[in-house]
Amino acid sequence: MKTYEIATIPGDGIGKEVVPAGQQVLEALAKTSSTYRFNFENFDWGADYFREHGVMIPDGGLDKIRNKDAILFGSAGDPHIPDHITLWGLRLKICQGFDQYANVRPTRILPGIDGPLKRCGPDDLNWVIVRENSEGEYAGVGGRVHQGHPIEAATDVSMMTRAGVERIMRFAFKLAQSRPRKLLTVITKSNAQRHAMVMWDEIALQISKEFPDVTWDKELVDASTARMINRPASLDTIVATNLHADILSDLAAALAGSLGIAPTGNIDPEHRYPSMFEPIHGSAFDIMGKGLANPVGTFWSCVMMLDHLGETDDAQRLMRAIEQVTANRAMHTRDLGGIATTAQVTQAVCELLTAPRQRKAA
Ligand code: NAD
Ligand code: MN
Repeated sequence: MKTYEIATIPGDGIGKEVVPAGQQVLEALAKTSSTYRFNFENFDWGADYFREHGVMIPDGGLDKIRNKDAILFGSAGDPHIPDHITLWGLRLKICQGFDQYANVRPTRILPGIDGPLKRCGPDDLNWVIVRENSEGEYAGVGGRVHQGHPIEAATDVSMMTRAGVERIMRFAFKLAQSRPRKLLTVITKSNAQRHAMVMWDEIALQISKEFPDVTWDKELVDASTARMINRPASLDTIVATNLHADILSDLAAALAGSLGIAPTGNIDPEHRYPSMFEPIHGSAFDIMGKGLANPVGTFWSCVMMLDHLGETDDAQRLMRAIEQVTANRAMHTRDLGGIATTAQVTQAVCELLTAPRQRKAA
């Protein structure tokens, strides 16, 4: 029997509600497996830890999770602490410390969920956005001078390296190649940003030659927002810089019905470090502590985690259970226009996973 060592880091706000829900679902899944089980270790890092200790993660914290098989993360962000402190102190520290350079965000309209696009059937929107997750606009390069004086100046420099762009392009082409349509759209802004984004385009062309069976095109990031809405079926796999993909993937999540159902994986494709899986939403201050958080984004992130661990059959089994639950409108949380609670949705998924019939079908 294989044991997967999983670090859970709920973080702040509704992260503390959806991560335990995700753990419950994974435990229900493992209960019916004869080949593997999970061993969870929880880490109370985040804003509360910061209030007590002045840091989001203790010294040497990363070493405690370095040898885990995967990380299940909630969200970082607190109404009383500046967002750049919580984000850089926790989530980015892990993403950058473990060189999780590919951020992968699948988007589909799940059964039973109404997307806001009128003429968009469920088969018209089936995307995976690949976000460069280690450099670019969020490289952290920059500074402030003359602070507080009238001549104050500040920079955030977008830093792109050939090695960094080559590896994300290769990852995106490979992912596009593995999907039925073998179709990749490279998002750019090389008309206005004439240095790094021009290199980005050149490298896309270079890497495309390694993947002759992948059809690909280029789209300016501003035009791509209109295309996502007007011609969603023309897109399949999408690769974009850290900032561009950050924005596009929130749009994608909204087009699929809610921020609350969208998952993501921060992946180290070389498996040198643990990869980290999390819902894309934040701490949701407006609903935290009320039991109203939609746990589906976390469950879908667990599906990505299982795939990454190589448990592809159980990944599919969990995805089917999630879809059966979203298809039932009585199990919709408030963000989807329903009245179900986090606990009810979690229980519904767990019951499907442990029901004798589903077990046999799997
Ligand atoms: P948010 O995602 O927290 O919330 C946006 C809106 O969506 C809110 O109305 C919220 O109630 C709703 N929502 C989000 N997730 C939901 C869910 N699972 N179920 C139901 N409704 C849901 O974004 P925000 O308000 O911009 O940010 C709040 C805090 O979270 C900030 O501190 C921000 O920095 C942080 N944040 C963290 C991450 C992360 O850790 N990955 C991502 C985004 C935002
Ligand atoms: Mn974001």
